[in-house]
Amino acid sequence: MKAIAVYPGQKNSVHLEDVEKPSVEQISDGKGVLVKIMKVGVDATDREINDALYGNPPPGDKHLVLGHESFGVVEAVGPNVRRVRPGDYVTLTVRRPGKSIYDLIGTNDMTSEETYYERGINLLHGYLTEYVVDNEDYVVRVPQGLAHLHVLMEPMSCAAKAIFQAYEAQRRMKVWRPERAFVMGAGQIGLLATLVLKLRGLDVYALARSRPPTLSSEIVRGIQATYVSTSDIPVAELVKKVGRPDIILDATGSSQIAFDSMQYLAHNGVLLWTSITGGQKKAELPSDKINIEWVLGNKMLIGSVNGNRHHFEMGISDLSQGEMMFPGVLQRILTNPVDSLDNYREMMRLLVEEKSALKVYVNVSS
Ligand code: BGC
Ligand code: ZN
Repeated sequence: MKAIAVYPGQKNSVHLEDVEKPSVEQISDGKGVLVKIMKVGVDATDREINDALYGNPPPGDKHLVLGHESFGVVEAVGPNVRRVRPGDYVTLTVRRPGKSIYDLIGTNDMTSEETYYERGINLLHGYLTEYVVDNEDYVVRVPQGLAHLHVLMEPMSCAAKAIFQAYEAQRRMKVWRPERAFVMGAGQIGLLATLVLKLRGLDVYALARSRPPTLSSEIVRGIQATYVSTSDIPVAELVKKVGRPDIILDATGSSQIAFDSMQYLAHNGVLLWTSITGGQKKAELPSDKINIEWVLGNKMLIGSVNGNRHHFEMGISDLSQGEMMFPGVLQRILTNPVDSLDNYREMMRLLVEEKSALKVYVNVSS
């Protein structure tokens, strides 16, 4: 089979690798699910792995098959599989359990071990290939009516988890009624987070540098949230106009903005960080001011990575509701298809150069 892979640690090593077709028998207890991959999305993580900023191959291999945003159809199942059947549309989760208590109870996204296992990212091969096999515990059914949103399931699981974590953590408040949210960044995660917060009934502002009209600003308007260009209205000014937000979710990929956001949060509020930055940047910020405000205001910061199957299911249910409320809007995130695994160079080129791309994905099979 063909697969798009890199040699981790070696810059710009993306290439086509020849790999073996997996089979359901490889998975123990008769719980194997063989998935024919249809589409795989790529994001900044894949770009940074190809930049050799992080990522590791599985032990014994030199290459790492990329791709962690999967969508496919079940081709075959082992005798003890109950969750899915051949012909079902599915996506697969990304992280696999280590040995900590959190891993053992199905919350492997919260592992307390330093080493984490992520398909297509760290120590496990990903989905940019023709077939993959896994235990049914990591295979999540996608409703037929959402098939047109295919590779959004994984990014949505990250947005859904982060916001769910905020509500979980805010149980410290006994009563918490957030009214306003700022989402920093209007890329795929920012847009999906905007939807989730909107569905929770908040007044949502999606902030990005670009001046409207852009595709992002139209999608934000399509889900009845407010798009704000920080080139026209700096964050401090927006706060003066509409008040401080109870939730700020950062999805910019800029550590400067992630930290700067600390200045704008309301009392008892929660700041959610969802993007990762592989570089070496150093930010300067008014630390005394933030320190006093955060203590006096009981504020909280949550870093949120990945999602387990529960978050995939939550995300899928939010996507379903989003489709019912704002039909046809979400598919506009799926901007840049690349036809076939053979075009891996074009895939990487779009990831690196096409600044307006909200989502680059590969059509692996139909
Ligand atoms: C993925 C997450 C993953 C994270 C860190 C993101 O791009 O979507 O599933 O946990 O990278 O590797
Ligand atoms: Zn990702």
